[in-house]
Amino acid sequence: MTINQEHLTDCKLCKAHSWELVATLISGIWDKRHDELNREELRFPIGQCTKCHHVQVAIPYTQSIFDSLYFSNQAEPDMWCETPNGQKSPYEEMLEFIAPYIQDGAHIVDFGAGAGTTLKHIENTHKERQLTLASVDFHNHIQSETIEYLSADLNKLEALQAEFVTQPISLAISTHVLEHLIDPIHFLTQIRSMLSDDGHIFIEVPDCSPDAFIEHLAFTNLVHGQHIHYYSKDSLAQIARLAGLKIDALQQLTTGDIPRLLILLSKTTQESSTTVLPVTSGADVAVVKRFNDYHAFQDSLFKQIQQALMLNDTIGIWGIGGDFYQLTQSYPELIDLIQANSIILYDYELAGHTYVGSSIRCSSAIASTRYPVFMLPLYAPTREKMHQVSQSWSAQVIDPF
Ligand SMILES: [Zn+2]
Repeated sequence: MTINQEHLTDCKLCKAHSWELVATLISGIWDKRHDELNREELRFPIGQCTKCHHVQVAIPYTQSIFDSLYFSNQAEPDMWCETPNGQKSPYEEMLEFIAPYIQDGAHIVDFGAGAGTTLKHIENTHKERQLTLASVDFHNHIQSETIEYLSADLNKLEALQAEFVTQPISLAISTHVLEHLIDPIHFLTQIRSMLSDDGHIFIEVPDCSPDAFIEHLAFTNLVHGQHIHYYSKDSLAQIARLAGLKIDALQQLTTGDIPRLLILLSKTTQESSTTVLPVTSGADVAVVKRFNDYHAFQDSLFKQIQQALMLNDTIGIWGIGGDFYQLTQSYPELIDLIQANSIILYDYELAGHTYVGSSIRCSSAIASTRYPVFMLPLYAPTREKMHQVSQSWSAQVIDPF
């Protein structure tokens, strides 16, 4: 399906202005100002450029979209499930990947450092190597005495150029940032100009290559309103080339259910090419599969709820978030069942509010229920926490996935 091209953004890979709709992500936040919850819905059409085949959200990200996506929830979402005993953590794997490129006395800067976990791992692993470490981000979440903090808008890195003239960067790091940025080529071009001649850039993004592990994408937050771009090995190679960079190393990993693409870039010596070649193996396969799977899981959940209601007068639903909202949009008969008190709603944070006029009870009350209660969220780390919380309860808590 082609989409109405008016009000759409240009492709940030090839600058064309022609999109084929891949899927529409329905995101949003609860307006909690009143007792009755109201959903402020955000719709993100994910398009594939008809010229170069890059996959990205096809509407422009306005300040008000950024505000509701990034400042509605103070807590950073957990990205990874807990690392099982005996396995390497995602950060240990990143460090192994970049270890050959860390030299004594290196100047290492993490763009979009967040809580600084990667930098702190580097600091602890390479104590004797006289490294200079710095973080660049909107906010200083690190609060470290040994890691310098530079405040910057990652979409406007040109403001930071002067900082690195006297001490260029030997290793720039940016993990799980590139998918959040408006213009990845601009971002990489800016970092390139801050690099020393033999410097490197380490990038990690969610891997939407067709050969990545894409079986369980519906249980991850890989498709997310904060993600503007969806990358494959091919599209990322194109973007790097257009930013005057070449790939020195590449690794595909899977952690939990999240496919990860790690690449190491350095400056190309010849004039950078501005010719755009079409992406041959793009992110469309992975994104389409995620949406098909998501709808299949919601359909299965709805059928399980129907069956449970044939055997019980009442059932419970635990977790009143985005997945719950979408389920009630896809299966509006659930609204009648909620209003008839056949379905009781439970949520820890939203307890005390109402939805379609029905009270939301605190999830701790599930412990003493005598009817089945379904976990609603698909996102695996959330369900992992729900399993931990409920393991001592005698109630019948069902993970439908
Ligand atoms: Zn394009």
